[in-house]
Amino acid sequence: WKMVEEILDPEEVIHEFEELSRDAWRVQRETLKKILDENGETEYLKRWGLNGSTDAGVFRERVPIVSHQDLEPHIQRIADGTNPRLFTRKPITTISLSSGTTQGKPKFVPFNDDLMEATMQIYKTSFAFRNREYPISNGKSLQFIYSSKQFKTKGGLTAGTATTNVYRSLQFKKTMAAMQTPCCTPDEVIFGPDFNQSLYCHLLCGLLFREEVQVVSSTFAHSIVHAFRTLEQVWEELVSDVRDGSLSGRITVPSIRTAMAKLMKPDPEAADAIRDGLSKLSNWYGVIEELFPNAKYVYGIMTGSMEPYLKKLRHYAGGLPLLSADYGSSEGWIGANVNPRSPPEEAAFAVLPNIGFFEFIPVSDNDAEKHAVGVNGVKVGEEYEIIITTFGGLYRYRLGDVVKVKGFHNTTPELQFVCRRNLLLTVNIDKNTEKDLQLAVESAAKKLSPSPHKLELVDFTSRVDSSREPGHYVIFWEISGEAPDGVLQECCNCLDASFVDAGYVSSRKTGSIGELELVTVKRGTFQKILDHYVGLGAAVSQFKTPRCVSPANDTLLQILCSNSVRNYFSTAY
Ligand code: AMP
Repeated sequence: WKMVEEILDPEEVIHEFEELSRDAWRVQRETLKKILDENGETEYLKRWGLNGSTDAGVFRERVPIVSHQDLEPHIQRIADGTNPRLFTRKPITTISLSSGTTQGKPKFVPFNDDLMEATMQIYKTSFAFRNREYPISNGKSLQFIYSSKQFKTKGGLTAGTATTNVYRSLQFKKTMAAMQTPCCTPDEVIFGPDFNQSLYCHLLCGLLFREEVQVVSSTFAHSIVHAFRTLEQVWEELVSDVRDGSLSGRITVPSIRTAMAKLMKPDPEAADAIRDGLSKLSNWYGVIEELFPNAKYVYGIMTGSMEPYLKKLRHYAGGLPLLSADYGSSEGWIGANVNPRSPPEEAAFAVLPNIGFFEFIPVSDNDAEKHAVGVNGVKVGEEYEIIITTFGGLYRYRLGDVVKVKGFHNTTPELQFVCRRNLLLTVNIDKNTEKDLQLAVESAAKKLSPSPHKLELVDFTSRVDSSREPGHYVIFWEISGEAPDGVLQECCNCLDASFVDAGYVSSRKTGSIGELELVTVKRGTFQKILDHYVGLGAAVSQFKTPRCVSPANDTLLQILCSNSVRNYFSTAY
């Protein structure tokens, strides 16, 4: 059976998007009507008494804004198979693991074909606009993408990260083919069980297809930086594989070996060319451009928590443009980057008005929930928390992101990503909130008490240390007395293992986040921190220890560092 290859017509896709965005508010109301016509009779929606109404005003009045936490027990019922039709008329059969955790468990969100469709529409839309500026034809893409393990929930639903659900789908392959950039790497590599082996083979496939590669990409830009950092280490081995046409012994997964063997034959000429090219480089500047002479650009999400990697990415890319990818989440997609020429720092995402119903609550407003507005009510320059209603069964769901309206494309807003509303710790794809940190610290601190000294944790805070690659979490502890090194080492390992966010766990396993560091600080350090804040005018009765120290907070860092006693690095992974 062979897939019929359809080539995407960018002008047609752009035309469709222009039509949709011309009267975005009308399309939004129609989209809401579609969602409610389809799902209005579900248990969840019936309880809000819409009585068949599909009007945006009535919807806003009666259906409450909810967070993931509010929906958790319901989603659990879906995952348990108790009621797979709770949110949607069609039963939910797949669960996505979104980043972040709730109460120390990975966060589940429903996934279905409509969300998959929306994903493809986003991919195609931004591709069409990219293609106008940087045309691709009959090429391949080198995509540093990896799948997570899929598992079955208690109710027999398939669960995995949203990207895994996407990469495993036939639609994804069709769309990549339609964009004339199918992945140059075989599925066995993408879905391999060992991240490091997959990464090595992605690089090797890139070299084998280096003339055809027209795009180098990943979901989040961090993976590209990580890949080329690895290339710096293993390039000689890669070159020798190309030369001999045989695969390095470091690849041990049989399915990967079999798949790779089909692509390889001895090619000393290519090996010499690659070696010469690399030896010309100074400190790996422009390595992507050098290795892939026909690459048009580097592509991936470069905004938000990815911004710190831009510098390194630019260095590796050399003269190639960096194009920032779209905006969405496991819960649903939101907007496409339709201005591929704007630098990643300024990237904005045009809302696709037919993939969901979007509301915005002003961040500056005290009584904000009451003042949620639609795409027709947002103002340029204002910041909003985004609320989504999707075909995937989420109604007025707080995504937890803050966005800023940069302008409009026709009448649809273009959003810039500002930050996670409650985000605390993040290095790359990991996201841990204050609550996650608190739970990790709680369970690790239990290891202090059995020691004969009756030690307790006085206070704690954290930060991300990105001064060395890869970045890592640092947790500062003030303890009531002296704990033995062995105990503290155990605490440190326990902290590391207690962050169960899927993004953190996978990044730790792959080494794209470094060992967690536990730093003990002198008695009285947190008192000094309090003094510092009080000195700035904070009220003692309302004082809350900052649980995460931003790199900009020099004074606080200074207090912590000058009072540090000892540090420990986790060996948990
Ligand atoms: P996940 O929960 O793993 O699906 O991650 C979704 C979250 O990643 C979003 O809610 C955002 O916080 C972040 N994110 C996704 N796309 C972008 C983007 N283009 N720029 C910045 N942050 C993004």
